[in-house]
Amino acid sequence: MVDAQRTLREQQISAQAAGFHNQANWMQARMEQDTTHMANAAEAIMNLATATVGDRQVVDSLTATIANLTAQLQQKDTLIATLQQQVASNREGGGRGSGARGGGRGGGRGRGGATTTTTTTTDATPRTLYYCWSHGYSYNPAHRSDNCTDKKAHHKVDATVTANMGGEQYRRPRGHITTS
Ligand SMILES: [Zn+2]
Repeated sequence: MVDAQRTLREQQISAQAAGFHNQANWMQARMEQDTTHMANAAEAIMNLATATVGDRQVVDSLTATIANLTAQLQQKDTLIATLQQQVASNREGGGRGSGARGGGRGGGRGRGGATTTTTTTTDATPRTLYYCWSHGYSYNPAHRSDNCTDKKAHHKVDATVTANMGGEQYRRPRGHITTS
């Protein structure tokens, strides 16, 4: 009877030990799982923190950009207001002003055109003018009265730029004739 009770007791203890052992195993597994979960959670939190820092930097940057843009907009507003005032004042007394300006430009153009023409005619790069009694004026030294290769009837070999001797006036330059 005592033996039987002892055996039973041993079996109970053994079972309990086995139970503890299982429980220990389960708890260990659970702890490992939790550790993994915790590690994952920690990583997630760190990521979140990084993201927050990044977001904050982005937000800071955006804030600075917005501040700059706002300042620029204010400058533009000021500029626009100034320009509007100038436009308004130009409209008030500007009719005559712009008319005068237009006239000035027109005159300038006219004079410019005349000057250009004169320049071309008289003082372009100093070129020597030559004369052929049969064919007129040119800047070609190979075509003069004395060396013309196609002389007309009564050709005057001695005719020059300053002494045409009644010869051809083709391409006679306007204005003063420069001689050499
Ligand atoms: Zn000739």
